[in-house]
Amino acid sequence: MRYDVAVVGAGPAGLFAALELSNSGLRVVVLDKGLAPKERKSITCGVGGAGTFSDGKLNLTPKIGGDPAAIGCSPGELEALIAEVDRAFTRYGAPEKYSGEDQEALSALKKKAAEAGIEFIAGRQRHIGTRRIREVIDAMYQDLLARGVEFRLGAEVRSISKDNAGFRLDLGGEAIEAEFVIAAPGRVGAYWLREVARALGVGPEFGPLDVGVRVEFPAELYQPIEQVMYDAKFRLRTRTYDDMVRTFCTNPRGFVVKEDYDEFVLVNGHAENKRKTENTNFALLVHIELTDPVEDTTEYGRAIAKLATTIGGGRPILQRLKDLEQGRRSTQERIRRVPIHPTLSEFTPGDISMALPQRVVTDVVEGIKRLDRIMPGLAADGTLIYAPEIKFYDTRYRVRAGMETELPGFYVAGDASGHSRGIVFAAVTGILAARRIKAVTRDGQRVAG
Ligand SMILES: Cc1cc2nc3c(=O)[nH]c(=O)nc-3n(C[C@H](O)[C@H](O)[C@H](O)COP(=O)(O)OP(=O)(O)OC[C@H]3O[C@@H](n4cnc5c(N)ncnc54)[C@H](O)[C@@H]3O)c2cc1C
Repeated sequence: MRYDVAVVGAGPAGLFAALELSNSGLRVVVLDKGLAPKERKSITCGVGGAGTFSDGKLNLTPKIGGDPAAIGCSPGELEALIAEVDRAFTRYGAPEKYSGEDQEALSALKKKAAEAGIEFIAGRQRHIGTRRIREVIDAMYQDLLARGVEFRLGAEVRSISKDNAGFRLDLGGEAIEAEFVIAAPGRVGAYWLREVARALGVGPEFGPLDVGVRVEFPAELYQPIEQVMYDAKFRLRTRTYDDMVRTFCTNPRGFVVKEDYDEFVLVNGHAENKRKTENTNFALLVHIELTDPVEDTTEYGRAIAKLATTIGGGRPILQRLKDLEQGRRSTQERIRRVPIHPTLSEFTPGDISMALPQRVVTDVVEGIKRLDRIMPGLAADGTLIYAPEIKFYDTRYRVRAGMETELPGFYVAGDASGHSRGIVFAAVTGILAARRIKAVTRDGQRVAG
């Protein structure tokens, strides 16, 4: 089977690329190893990607989710693309409810944070919620089908090769051919992509890695901030190591969830529209950059994740803040004494300092203490800490304008490209790749040269 464009991955990057390519005269196929929005059970795989089971917090500011300069986008262009993504979500049924728009309240929070030595990154946001986003993604999927985009679901791309005729994607027993490939396999496929890219002669660069924990605490502590910005982002530098620590993906009255990867488990979080808990959670991440002689941050992150998974007996580790500070493991009994209930049921009470590097643990504890100044009560003995939470955005591909790699015709998009860290930026990179492909073809014909 031969196509003009094969898109690997039906997450936000792949779907927005397909939307942009639909009705262009090009024959487009989207391949995903997961299933359709209403059939899938996996948290990370299937139409909608990780986004479908996510909270659907859309960060509508160029300041959050990626580096515009690295993808050759001016702030103005990026603002326009973000607005386009937002309009598409509205069209497919996302509620028009925004937060982070009250300038006075944002300034007051910024001042309070600055007084505590914390940077508050303000920006407009929209919250779709876990249940609703599934409907929204399904509406988008149905529309793409109606527009003539082909989907091959349950189709895992094993490898990609190239010869004079174009690209050949091996689906295990079957192969498809395409003139252009947009590789958007998300974080779940980032490791796979780097092997594929290497085989094609496209070398990744290693970027920084974010390693840390998920912090869970009574929802009331975050309520005053939630009224200003639903998923407020805070950044600070720790005293001991001068490391950058940041909060990420806050889920008011949400759940901590487990993510299964091939060789390890990680924690994450989400919030639902209807089902609310009494707890709020956020990721607290330490920014790690490696230099000579070890630059492979992916392998470093995987080693930490595997060690933590071994210590946790295949489950995430849960520890009370008090136990972490006093250097002893938490037990079921000690967890039971905490005034809040963990929202993740599958955990091992343990000792996070056995699993994460000591530097990360010190940064996390210092970070919580500093954040306690703007969220009083956060550093309480009973605050729950889950590990490991790791964000593998670190393998990054050098791209020219339009997300094309050094190999002509081979494009990368979304989180696996190393250039996005969220739904909106992933979608933006997908659109950029699709636009570039449309620009080098005309009515389905490749433009000579
Ligand atoms: C629990 C959770 C909550 C989150 N909450 C938010 C949030 O509120 N706001 C936000 O902005 N972001 C959130 N995120 C992150 C967000 O979902 C991702 O940044 C975004 O989905 C990345 O989009 P993507 O298109 O790059 O990849 P993904 O969405 O990860 O999609 C990649 C797709 O590629 C497929 N794939 C991978 N390898 C292959 C292969 N070899 N062959 C075929 N198919 C393959 C996968 O099955 C998957 O469907 C959350 C993530 C999780 C897990």
